[in-house]
Amino acid sequence: MNSPEQRQEPTTAEAPAGFKAGFVAVLGLPNAGKSTLVNALVGRKVAIVSPRPQTTRSRILGIVNRPRAQIVLVDTPGIHLPRNALGRMMVEEIERGTEGVDLAAYMVDATRDFGPEDVRALERVRRFSGPAFLLLNKIDRIEKARLLPLIELYRQQREWAEVLPISALTGEGLDVLERLLIDYLPEAPPYFPTDQFTDQPERFLAAEIIREKAMLLTRQEVPYSIAVVIDRYEEAERRVHIQATILVEREGQRGILIGRQGAMIKKIGTLAREELEWLLGTKVFLELYVKVQPDWRDNPAVVSHLDWRRQFERLSRE
Ligand code: GDP
Ligand code: MG
Repeated sequence: MNSPEQRQEPTTAEAPAGFKAGFVAVLGLPNAGKSTLVNALVGRKVAIVSPRPQTTRSRILGIVNRPRAQIVLVDTPGIHLPRNALGRMMVEEIERGTEGVDLAAYMVDATRDFGPEDVRALERVRRFSGPAFLLLNKIDRIEKARLLPLIELYRQQREWAEVLPISALTGEGLDVLERLLIDYLPEAPPYFPTDQFTDQPERFLAAEIIREKAMLLTRQEVPYSIAVVIDRYEEAERRVHIQATILVEREGQRGILIGRQGAMIKKIGTLAREELEWLLGTKVFLELYVKVQPDWRDNPAVVSHLDWRRQFERLSRE
């Protein structure tokens, strides 16, 4: 059972004999380190990362290209109970993220204790019938003695094809993980051109980078009230012109994002522009606006507008 939009026809007929390729869903509670892992394996940033839970809102593919394999990682939003239209879209993204994948990697923040939310999250992993890896992440921050009892608890929940302690941040254990992932993938030609590292169009990557910086610089409820819409994305000869609107839910949040004499929005713009220039390898001219869209997280129309796949479909029709 393959989801048609994720599973494309293999792209080349000339893959070397024994080439392996397939999809791996990266699952786990918010903040486990899923996006950090995807970025580390891909070797570039495809998904934004923040210390705040529920930063990832939609499913993103990170493509790992190696001489004899292509691992397509599906980064998903953290498993949580939805509270609004945005939350429901995120949970739907998790469901779609596990459709048609070859393998699942369930990621755990090993610095945390096992709790009821883990049981709930594992419920979803149990519904996946293929092989699943258990990844105990953030081992750079724990005593190794903690691992065994933790692994025992997880073993009672499901059968794990492999159990690996890793640090997505320092890279510890990632070479072993990569090798094992490839071992479990079927023989197949690559699904994407082997120079491609994500399925996310650059304009939406730009929106995510802006959102990451805005989340990084704000506090309390503000980070979750932020959405970014790209109004204009034009590639000129030696630079990209990006015009974007940051949506917030309240007038007060708009004030915070703009800051005293525009200091905050300027800082967000500078950080985002610097990173985009590095990612895109070109000069970027970035124009940012802030707009109040009351309670957009409860509004299915706005939430659906933020889903880049739907936006992309609309753009391609225009
Ligand atoms: P996600 O919600 O599962 O996608 O988690 P993120 O990748 O956004 O990471 C959440 C937070 O955990 C960020 O602050 C990361 O820097 C941090 N983090 C991720 N992996 C590690 C790790 O291996 N070690 C440590 N110490 N922190 C990590
Ligand atoms: Mg994430």
